Amino acid sequence: MFRASVLTLFPEMFPGPLGTSLAGRALGEAWQLELFQIRDFATGKHRQVDDTPAGGGPGMVMKADVLARAIDAAAPEGDPRPRFYMSPRGRPLTQERVRDLAAGPGAIILCGRFEGVDERLIEARGLEEVSIGDYVLSGGELAAMVLVDAVVRLLPGVMGHDQSGTEESFEAGLLEYPQYTRPQVFEDREIPAILTSGDHAKVAKWRRAEAERITRERRPDLWAKLKGE
Ligand code: SAM
Repeated sequence: MFRASVLTLFPEMFPGPLGTSLAGRALGEAWQLELFQIRDFATGKHRQVDDTPAGGGPGMVMKADVLARAIDAAAPEGDPRPRFYMSPRGRPLTQERVRDLAAGPGAIILCGRFEGVDERLIEARGLEEVSIGDYVLSGGELAAMVLVDAVVRLLPGVMGHDQSGTEESFEAGLLEYPQYTRPQVFEDREIPAILTSGDHAKVAKWRRAEAERITRERRPDLWAKLKGE
């Protein structure tokens, strides 16, 4: 079973949206969620988890010693799961990486807050920094949910139709073709006739051409990669 261990100052945010729909139904069946309150690993009267940045500047930095104890509790030595620190500085999350993770035993996920975490913690615990996009969130929790949701829907038995996982955007390096459903006419717009022709080969060809057109128009970066440019 895929096991996600999330380290956070706000465990009450979970499972949140991961408790509904596909992911929610599969929770406890196809995947497991463990939450670690980072503050439980702080010491002293005030259980301080952060401190002022060395060198000055605004905000607070999460302390390496506290986080290291939390990670060691979540992932004792020998735990084969990859360790992530959700971070806007990280490598952008891709469907390829998500598929990789879905084939593995799980993930340890550290959610940052404030100005982020002491750099030495990232090095000392071999954390992989992962970003969910070029914008800054107030904390890593939503980013962790994005990662887990993307993985869980690919786990065996979670999605209704197995194919829906392999024909989607990014799976063949392309964005997905347009989808339609009944009614046949909606506000004077018809479903493209080819889709209701019953000719499966023509439908597949049309979908491929549309996927290529949309990728070329909207994501020249993906298109160039596909063409090996
Ligand atoms: N000072 C940091 C910087 O400029 O890179 C931003 C810190 S942010 C306010 C607090 C936390 O939110 C981060 O430690 C990280 O865990 C999370 N976070 C923010 N944006 C993110 C993103 N795009 N992807 C993943 N995690 C993000």
